[in-house]
Amino acid sequence: MSALMQVSPLDPLAYRSDFPILSREVRPGVPLIYFDNAASTQHPREVIQSMVRCYEEHYANVHRGIHQLAQESDELFDQAREKVRAFINAPQREQCIFTYGATSGINIVARSWGDANLKPGDEILLTEMEHHANLVPWQQLAERSGAVLRHIPLTEDGLLQLDALDTLLTERTKLVAFVAISNVLGTINPVGEIIRRGHQAGALVLLDGAQSVPHQKTDVQALDVDFLVFSGHKMLGPSGVGVLYGKRELLEAMPPFLGGGGMIRRVRLDSFEPGDLPAKFEAGTPPIVSAIGLGAAIDYLNRIGMDAIAHHERLLVTRAHAILEKIEGLRILGPTPEYKAGIVSFSLDQIHAHDVAEVLDRSGIAIRAGHHCAMPLHNRYNVGATARASFYLYNTLAEVEQLAPGLDAAKRVFHRKRNFG
Ligand code: PMP
Repeated sequence: MSALMQVSPLDPLAYRSDFPILSREVRPGVPLIYFDNAASTQHPREVIQSMVRCYEEHYANVHRGIHQLAQESDELFDQAREKVRAFINAPQREQCIFTYGATSGINIVARSWGDANLKPGDEILLTEMEHHANLVPWQQLAERSGAVLRHIPLTEDGLLQLDALDTLLTERTKLVAFVAISNVLGTINPVGEIIRRGHQAGALVLLDGAQSVPHQKTDVQALDVDFLVFSGHKMLGPSGVGVLYGKRELLEAMPPFLGGGGMIRRVRLDSFEPGDLPAKFEAGTPPIVSAIGLGAAIDYLNRIGMDAIAHHERLLVTRAHAILEKIEGLRILGPTPEYKAGIVSFSLDQIHAHDVAEVLDRSGIAIRAGHHCAMPLHNRYNVGATARASFYLYNTLAEVEQLAPGLDAAKRVFHRKRNFG
């Protein structure tokens, strides 16, 4: 066991057996090393069981029925919302809207708040490191409203150029929407400072917490953030559920986006009155069982502790950097480990990222290759695609060490092909 591992307060080996999938072999004799956590994480048995139990014992639609099962499902669904509230320290659980993921949360704000409030010439400030989920909805809103998009530029080493805020933030800025942790660079942005600066300029602030809420403590009241979005499937929960948090007065003033059952107080043939929060933004049958699974995931994360998780991932990413930096021809995108979470994206010689991923897969190492839904970011650094290893609480330093032989193999295979192919 290495020195780094001894100082870690989190022993991943104590948790790995909770995750059935982590003990499978990718092929006979090749164990799985799962480094694709920024795309989606794996599930502990108790999260899976919470959903199985719901289906086997309690399942019914929520907020509609009088019968016993409907009441039990209601209760489980409400408990899940309360777990979300406590996890991000929201003042009231009605401020936590269940969505279908971070993407749908951003689209709700763009369609609802955006359409109601933006006019030609208003500005939305984004950054050059955004996921497409935090670019395209604002581009669509700009098209509809005549608002203008601005972007905080990046430094060569993957940090936001905060001095640009002096000129980018003006009285025209109505919204600042940015990512707390980049899904490509791993950069942990100075969230508190950007929120404060945005508010000073009179703008609202939306935080894309898809990569931060699963990996570090989040306190929406301490941050004073106006909107926060995140996804269940990146924090040990199931896919198909996410959360939009918003300040109560904002959510109350916003018109509903999707219309349908569940979101109304009264409907006549030609008009409707919207319901109260959170129903107003949860038209149709919500992701009932996924939300319950997310609640179980939050219980699991709370027992380990978000600070311990963040610390453990810092150890992993520091080791990954040390290994990757020794590999000739390898270029890491993004800052040094002290500024980042457990994500490392890199390019290797002239080898395409998909080829790197394919060779690593032969050793059971699952990474992601491509533009990771951040094409403008890749353009900024003049790379078409990168290979990305991303870590979570169940990854070990021993697994990270396997990147070295895996990448050596990639170099051997492709240099041989180039020389003799
Ligand atoms: N923002 C960031 C930073 C992300 O990493 C992702 C997922 N890759 C999203 C938004 C979108 O999340 P989802 O696909 O779950 O809606």
